[in-house]
Amino acid sequence: MIFFSDRMENVVNQNGEENTRFGVYWSVCCGVEIVLAEGMTFPHCPNHPKLTTYWKSVADEKIPRAVDLTRITKKKDGDPAV
Ligand SMILES: [Zn+2]
Repeated sequence: MIFFSDRMENVVNQNGEENTRFGVYWSVCCGVEIVLAEGMTFPHCPNHPKLTTYWKSVADEKIPRAVDLTRITKKKDGDPAV
């Protein structure tokens, strides 16, 4: 697990940094997903423009994310089985 978290730290990008790899990125603060082409600059999170925004590549994320779980829960809103 320590190995994995170390690896994850390496793929965090900060707003203002240049993207070196085309892909889908999500904000650590609230999970907003963006598609960013190579050479573009990482933006601020649209929900938190005053904060430093960290972006992680979806492609590098191999474990279920809390964001996804929240999303699934919302989709099943009203389902008594939850
Ligand atoms: Zn945010």
